[in-house]
Amino acid sequence: MPIPRRVRGVVLVCIALALGATPGAPLAAQERYPTLFTPALAAKPQVRDALRWLESSYPEHVQEWIRITEIPAKSEHEQARAAYVKAELEKAGLEVRIDSIGNVTAVRKGVGGGPTVVFAAHLDTVHPLDTDVTVKRDGKVLRAPGIFDNSASVANLLAVIRALDRAHVRTKGDLVFVGTVQEELGLRGMDWWLEHTPRPDMLVAMDGGLDGVDYGALGIYWTRYHFTGEGSHTLTSAGKPHPARALAEAIASIYELRIPEGHGGAVYNVGMVGGGKVFNAIPQDVWFTVDLRSVNPVLLDSLDREIEARVAKAAADQHVGWSKELVQRNKAGGTEEQLAGARRHPIVQTAVDIHRFLGLPARAVATGSTDANVAVTRGIPAISVGRANGGNQHTLQEWADSESALPATKMVLLLGVSLAGLAEAVP
Ligand SMILES: [Zn+2]
Repeated sequence: MPIPRRVRGVVLVCIALALGATPGAPLAAQERYPTLFTPALAAKPQVRDALRWLESSYPEHVQEWIRITEIPAKSEHEQARAAYVKAELEKAGLEVRIDSIGNVTAVRKGVGGGPTVVFAAHLDTVHPLDTDVTVKRDGKVLRAPGIFDNSASVANLLAVIRALDRAHVRTKGDLVFVGTVQEELGLRGMDWWLEHTPRPDMLVAMDGGLDGVDYGALGIYWTRYHFTGEGSHTLTSAGKPHPARALAEAIASIYELRIPEGHGGAVYNVGMVGGGKVFNAIPQDVWFTVDLRSVNPVLLDSLDREIEARVAKAAADQHVGWSKELVQRNKAGGTEEQLAGARRHPIVQTAVDIHRFLGLPARAVATGSTDANVAVTRGIPAISVGRANGGNQHTLQEWADSESALPATKMVLLLGVSLAGLAEAVP
């Protein structure tokens, strides 16, 4: 359905106004960022011993990864997996607490004088509890729902703690380990954790593939729009207010939106439509969903308002009612320009340098879709780093490369020591 030119003009002006002035000049390409990692740190005897222990115990690490994957843990049903993690953390001598939403937290105390660094791995999966999660080995490939997202990170986290202990590594700052719940439902566990815990100095989310370091936050808005009316039998329907016609007009109109160039970009999708009960009547309730995403909070909100305006206009045109359900509202962290300060925090370059040192892809990007988002949007220096190589997450065909969790685990160990600071060896 065509949109009157007048309306289109108003839309573009509104978006342009909402975006405001262009932020400061882009960073110089050769800008050197501060780092806390040096190869000499990895060569210190305790650190070298810890890395060697990770290598020599890797067969058992993979066994545990499989064991964790085979504990069903659909979001809101993470209790069995949480109990396993709690027991293993206690075996490592840590004091463990499970909070009221279900997150598992343990603190490995530092000797003092360093920052508190949180490492978080989400415990939940998207797979229903009756899914067959038996892991099948196919050469170097492990196959099972949840093997990649995020069981690998949970196993990596436990391996790091044991390696630090075996090699008697002490850090200056505290290392806080968190197994979060309900990540897949909109980062709810981490949101709850940050709301109820003293603000940490840094946070690292362990999630995703081994493709570098994310230091931003992709904002994600999920909204369901309803159109409602009196309804009527088909025989008496001519000319009557029609929710389905409003829905059709609204969806067509939303797809005429133009995303402004630059400003971090945005994408959106109508993923579900539904409503009505019978062939032979005007439906009384129809609905559709919108998944809207941008790293730019201003653009995200302006597009959200614009979509709503088009829904309201379609409802008015068709003389029907409308309403909206806010299903999920994950805030955006900002564009690359807006996050220039976050990029300069040593957490980012330290992680990049460790990736490079280990031969892993070493790029840093100003986006992210993990538990770290919640910290980024609160202004806490935060990144997400990968757990393994794999694919098809959130499907029954999920897989992971069984050898790839080793470099990921070394990377997390080096991050912990670099960020919290290595304490001198106790003689
Ligand atoms: Zn995940």
